[in-house]
Parts: sequence; C-alpha cells; structure tokens
Amino acid sequence: FQIKVPENEPIKSYLPGSPERLALKAELDRQTANPIEVPIIVGGKEYRTEHKGKMICPHDHQTVLGEYSIAGEKELLMAIEAAEAAKVEWENMPWEHRATIFLKAADLLTGKYRAKLSASCMLGQSKNLFQAEIDVICELADFLRFNPYYVQEIYKQQPNNSAGVWNRVEYRALDGFVAAITPFNFTAIGGNLATAPAMVGNTVLWKPSSTAVLSNYYVMQILMEAGLPAGVINFVPCRGVDFGKVVINHPKMAGFHFTGSTSVFNGIWKQVGDNISNYVTYPRLVGETGGKDFIFAHESADIEALTCSIILGAFEYQGQKCSAASRAYVPESLWGQLKVRLEEEIAKIKVGDVRDFSNLMNAVIDQNSFKNIQSYLDYVKASEDGEIIIGGGTEDKVGYFVEPTVILAKTPTFKTMVEEIFGPVLTVYVYPNDKFEETLELCDTSTVYGLTGSIFAQDRAAIVKMSQALDHAAGNFYINDKPTGAVVGQQPFGGSRGSGTNDKAGSAVNLSRWMSQRTIKETL
Ligand code: GLU
Repeated sequence: FQIKVPENEPIKSYLPGSPERLALKAELDRQTANPIEVPIIVGGKEYRTEHKGKMICPHDHQTVLGEYSIAGEKELLMAIEAAEAAKVEWENMPWEHRATIFLKAADLLTGKYRAKLSASCMLGQSKNLFQAEIDVICELADFLRFNPYYVQEIYKQQPNNSAGVWNRVEYRALDGFVAAITPFNFTAIGGNLATAPAMVGNTVLWKPSSTAVLSNYYVMQILMEAGLPAGVINFVPCRGVDFGKVVINHPKMAGFHFTGSTSVFNGIWKQVGDNISNYVTYPRLVGETGGKDFIFAHESADIEALTCSIILGAFEYQGQKCSAASRAYVPESLWGQLKVRLEEEIAKIKVGDVRDFSNLMNAVIDQNSFKNIQSYLDYVKASEDGEIIIGGGTEDKVGYFVEPTVILAKTPTFKTMVEEIFGPVLTVYVYPNDKFEETLELCDTSTVYGLTGSIFAQDRAAIVKMSQALDHAAGNFYINDKPTGAVVGQQPFGGSRGSGTNDKAGSAVNLSRWMSQRTIKETL
C-alpha cells in the first residue's frame, strides 16, 4: 500500500444546465424548506439536549435551517470517556486502514454528497457557490488526501543502525486526547483540525463554531459513513466556557488544534499554563489565529494585477478569511490610477443572497460581526485621520450585508490599518515614492500579526528588497498575487507572530505535532 502524491480536487464549472448546477439548486431548495435537528455525536451515538442553538442563513436571517443540541458538562465528560475508550484500538490499527477511511471520505464528499455539502456551506455560512466549492469540496478533499500521504512519508523515516544494534522509531499518537476548536469561515479547516490528529492515531473532541454547525455536521456524518470507528472523533457543539472548564483543563488533554481569534488562543494558552502541573503530558498547542494581511505595491507594480488582487483578496467571502487583504500600501505615483480602477470594479460587485449566483458577495456571518464592522465604520466617519472613499453602507433588515468598503488613512498606523476587522473593509495608505524603505519598515512593524501578505512589483531588485524587509511579516507571502486562496499541497498555510504557531495546515510539520515518538534501541 503506497499513496502516490495526490492531485488537487478540480473545481467544477456549474455552467447553466449542468448536472452539478441542477443538483445544487435542488439541495438549496431542500435544505431551506426542511429544517433539521443536529445532535451531539459521542462514541458514535447521537444525543439530544434541552439546550438548543439555532442555525440561520446570515443573508436571510428569518430563514431557520434547523436547531442543534448544545453539549453541557455531562456530555463533554462523556465525550472524553468515549475518546479514551476508542484510543487503544484506533492507535493500534495499521495506519493504512486508518488512511483508507479518510480517502474514502474524500471520495464521498466530492461525489455523492457534493451538492449537499456545498449547499449547507452556502446557506449556513453565506458563501457564494465558488467559495463553497473551493472550501468544503476541494480544500477539504485535498486535506483528506494529502495528509495521509504526508503521514506515510513521515512513517518511512527511521534512524540508522550500528553493528549489533537495531534502532527504530515508533510514531505513536499523543498520550491523551486532542481537543479541536474550529472556525466558521472554512468548513475545510474544521474538517482538517479534527481529522489531522486522528489520522495518526489520536482521538478527538471537535467543537465546531456555533455559526457553522450545519456543514460541519454533514462532514462528521460523511466521516462516519466512510467507516470512522465510534469515539475517534466526537462532535460536541458547546459553549466555549464549558469546553474550557471540562476539556481544556482535563489532565488527559494532550493536544489542542485551533483556528480562530488571537484573543481566544491567548486565553487558552494562559489557561493551559495555569493548569500545567495537572496534565499527564505537556499539551501540544497548535493554532492559526488572526491576521492584518497586507498588500504592498512598489512603483513598478502592474495596476491591473494590483486591482484584481485587491478586489478578490479583500472582498471575496466578505473579507472573512484570515488571509484577507485588509491594509494596502500604495505609492503616490500609482494611487490616482488605482483609485479609478477600484471605483470602476467595486461598482460592479453585487452583494446579496447566495441563491442568486451572480452575487460576488453575500452576508457577514452574524449580528455581532455586523455590529463590530459598523462600529469601525462609525469610528472612521468621526475621525480626521481616515475617510471612507468607496462603499461604507450596511443593511441588516433581511441579512447582514456590508458593502465592499475602501478607507483612505492619513497615517500609516490609523486604527483600521492595524486592527483586524474581519469584514469587507480595506484601508489604503498612500506613501511618498521616496519613502519606500521606511514604509516597508512600517508594514513590518505596525501590527502584531504575521499571516499573509502580497507584494506587487515588476522590478526584480524591488521584489528582493521587499521579500527581505518583510521576512517574518507573513507566513504565506505572495509575489504579484492576492494573499488568499492557499491550495493544499501547493502553498502550506499558516503564519507566526500574533497569527499563530505556523504549523502549516496540510503539511508534514502539522501532522508531526500529533505524534509522540518512541525511540527503541535493541541490542542483538
Ligand atoms: N487558507 C485560507 C486562504 O489561504 C485562509 C484560511 C483562514 O481564513 O483561516 O485563504
């Protein structure tokens, strides 16, 4: 059994009249008309609790997609027991049998369940068809196919022997269970955070985001249909405080896999620190957190490449990718022309319901997010140091809509140049051409983050200078391209500084964090 280097799952066209488009439309109608009840899944069994959460469409908040049960302390303790009970058999299962389950899940989700999954992601997380397709279909399938390949390559590495001595390394799972807290913005990330530790023999408690329960639940069902044994992954939507108290503080918590805000990750890190002497082993903490991702243009930049990357990088999925472009540094000599091109292109962007496939943008995830974005826009309106030059409108009667917005900052450290907003808001700082180097330095130092960033230049010497000056400013660094849309197997994803531990999602580095090696020396 040898896994060859996988190929990335191709994106389907969904041309009018195509079978995939018809199937998707039927699923969108079906899921909108038939609210469902999502259970907790512990030890392969479904549980329902009194305490319920609602799943709504962010672009049409009166439409309820269903309800989900919220796990309390009792269910979380049951989930830990189930994870512990499943561990020995799972860890000792020959790895290729574990791998087969995930490879089969990838085939199920790209085949039979493609329409169902895409529709759930579109409706529940307000993604347009393309954004749903690249997330819950292509990227998730890629994680499920590439990760087993990376595991295979890690397992092949063995130490040298000497005369009369046989050395070997066993790649065991961690000594305990893994806790995963996953975000709303990518269902693929939710699936990856739960499955990557499981692939190498760990058992997992998966807390999905309360605003992405529907699509995450369907992923869980597919994993079970593919043959995932009971208790290997336990699906426990719950409140953060309960998860913190029961799961994060548990002595057998041996790993934590996270994508979400920097402040939540910092809180967990502190909590683990305070509790450190109570753990059986030092928990591995792996997190991808916030970003304030930059676009930095040199005077030799191509205006069309820059325009296109700003539009897609800042506004696709309403700017709710951790990788979204949210601050741009533009030289004075290009700004006049760039501003005109941005006005022209942004005027063409349609914002609305996901069921109208011509909308490039849909709603932001929920009321909290909507209000948070609004408060930033209000701040700018009241400030002398920044000005909204394009967009700025918001509307929440039907759904949580925010127009694609461009702010012009007079100072390079203006609030919206340095704070993460997580919405379709880009702030531009125009720098004098002769301040190129100082501005690079500002770009590097003015935020706490280091996730993604793009530079634009045609002058090779400028490209080299920018790459060197922004060395640690972005874990994913793009030259003449947008800072979003990393592809598994091609651009391993993650950043450092306030953006996380940079253990690259979908990579051998990430998978090795869920392994605990035993080195064995045997004298012959
Ligand atoms: N991997 C995604 C991208 O490259 C972003 C992931 C995230 O938002 O956390 O756009």
